[in-house]
Amino acid sequence: MRLIIMGAPGAGKGTQAPGIAEHYGIPAISTGDIFRANVKQKTELGLQVSAIMAAGDYVPDELTEKIVADRLDQADAAAGFLLDGFPRTLHQVQALDDYLSAHDQKLDAVLSLTVDSEALIQRLLKRAQLEGRADDTEETIRHRMEVYERDTKPLLDHYREQGLLISVDGDGSISEVSERAFAALDGAVGSR
Ligand code: AMP
Repeated sequence: MRLIIMGAPGAGKGTQAPGIAEHYGIPAISTGDIFRANVKQKTELGLQVSAIMAAGDYVPDELTEKIVADRLDQADAAAGFLLDGFPRTLHQVQALDDYLSAHDQKLDAVLSLTVDSEALIQRLLKRAQLEGRADDTEETIRHRMEVYERDTKPLLDHYREQGLLISVDGDGSISEVSERAFAALDGAVGSR
């Protein structure tokens, strides 16, 4: 199973991704987690991206695409994966398409978690208190929302046109949302 999980900041992608990946026996690959780990370890990549992330902007496409291609090249991703937080731009969509066709692979579905935008801001402010993420200040949250609306939301139309988009209501407990996701994915992918 080759999946992408999408949604606005705070929609619950990172919360849902590990459970969904485990359910289908595939690795969850989060570009945000990869970047955060590098920032924490102060690697060269981490030093390159920390200010960009703290400002709520996107890391340049070429850099992000290289990180993802390297990760997808690893053996555990050969039979499937769940991408969380990638692609985020049309350029990244194209890079992923190119990677997959070069490897004779295809996406099975793109899961979109939908949550009302006011609820999103509240969730993110709560997460800021709990986790203290550098990109969870109110100003950065608003900026990340704008960047999402401008650069990433149009990707939903792209995947809808490809017949890959599955939208699931992201409001509810972790298990309620994941049960919805399993039902929607099994229904859609099973019937293809
Ligand atoms: P996330 O944990 O997915 O919200 O990602 C946290 C931050 O990492 C984002 O706000 C970006 O700065 C950066 N990032 C993660 N994924 C990408 C991507 N696909 N393209 C560009 N920047 C990204």
